[in-house]
Amino acid sequence: MGKRFIEFIEYLIDSLISVIYAYDYKCEICGEYLENGDICKKCRDKIHFCKDPFVINKNGLCIKGYNVSYYSGNITKLILNFKYKSNFRCGDILGNFMIELIEIEKIKFDLITFVPMTKSSINKRGYNQSEILAKIIGKKFGIKVINCIKKIKETKDQIGLSSEERWTNVAKSFKIRNNKNIPGKKILLVDDVFTTGATTYCCAITLLENGGNDVIVLTVAKSNI
Ligand SMILES: [Zn+2]
Repeated sequence: MGKRFIEFIEYLIDSLISVIYAYDYKCEICGEYLENGDICKKCRDKIHFCKDPFVINKNGLCIKGYNVSYYSGNITKLILNFKYKSNFRCGDILGNFMIELIEIEKIKFDLITFVPMTKSSINKRGYNQSEILAKIIGKKFGIKVINCIKKIKETKDQIGLSSEERWTNVAKSFKIRNNKNIPGKKILLVDDVFTTGATTYCCAITLLENGGNDVIVLTVAKSNI
């Protein structure tokens, strides 16, 4: 009787563990139960990963960077859940994609920073998604993440502006916050979505003007909008 009781308890514990296990390992996209990880192979295989680095060539200056993937399908779902539904597990998945790319491309850097948001946007959302991604990368590689750029005005309203005016408009939105760690450093600049490149370019320029030796941009997804 005693032995049976112990077996029953063991069975209950196993069942409980399997429930917790299954709950912990569910694909964030389709909800399928997994043996491990956050995203199933089927959903991962549907992601259109970018293969080559890009270069923003402007005013005689070249800024090199990488996008993990294109802004579509499953990547869009992960980004939207992370940005607007505070789903930090999706943030972890995206951060891990960035880490994979850094390892595959053997990207080297001494310091990490991120594209900032205005104070009012942070207050509204509660967090800056690019800062969280930067911290995931920093933790993995043991590299310091610094909050050195300040966004002083929103750049949403770009309607009616020419391409050149949009770049100028963005350029006026960023300022250095603190430059003490920047001189001589190779800096990884992290952002979530890459569109015209104006935002990342302007942040990169701010870093270079404040003594940065080199800047490499890394974003989750490239959007064509
Ligand atoms: Zn899935």
